[in-house]
Amino acid sequence: MKIICIGRNYVDHIHELQNAIPEDPVIFQKPDTALLKDNAPFYYPDFTQDLHHEVEIVVKINKMGKNIDEKFAHKYYNEIGIGIDFTARDLQSKLKSKGLPWELAKAFDGSAPISEFIPKTEFADLQNLNFHLDVNGQTRQQGNTSLMLFKIDYIISFVSRFFTLKTGDLLFTGTPKGVSPVKVGDTLTAYIEGKKMLEFEVK
Ligand code: MG
Repeated sequence: MKIICIGRNYVDHIHELQNAIPEDPVIFQKPDTALLKDNAPFYYPDFTQDLHHEVEIVVKINKMGKNIDEKFAHKYYNEIGIGIDFTARDLQSKLKSKGLPWELAKAFDGSAPISEFIPKTEFADLQNLNFHLDVNGQTRQQGNTSLMLFKIDYIISFVSRFFTLKTGDLLFTGTPKGVSPVKVGDTLTAYIEGKKMLEFEVK
């Protein structure tokens, strides 16, 4: 399976990192070795001094598809969850300044902790979902999926022009503002509509 991520999908986050608003979705991938499941602890890597959390709604693909029309995209996922797109911001800034790919800063082992998945039918409107991230009980990031620049169905349609989507692939849909560094000993807890979905420690 693969993990497809969209960067710069919430305007308030684009502004906090002083990036330009993109015309097309900004896409990158993480390998399956990035996954961290079952609330397993995350081990702080030795190649960064500025590791940031990015909380994101995650969509699980349930059917193979290529060149998916936006109006049929909803048939390609049944479940959603929440995850963290861990980013070594110091490394990413260095790579960005040289115009190099972000992989080392984004796709490393354990960089994609994810929750359990729940049926999308539990929510009235996937494009109006509140989600948030607490660090040690303090809310650091709060978002609502209505504020996505590119909506879920559009992203699926867009990426499936380039990559065949397969059952089990995951789509990280972008982070709202409030990204900030984590440190060893922090506990991260992520919620969808007030329901605790994911909780793990940084070690
Ligand atoms: Mg992200």
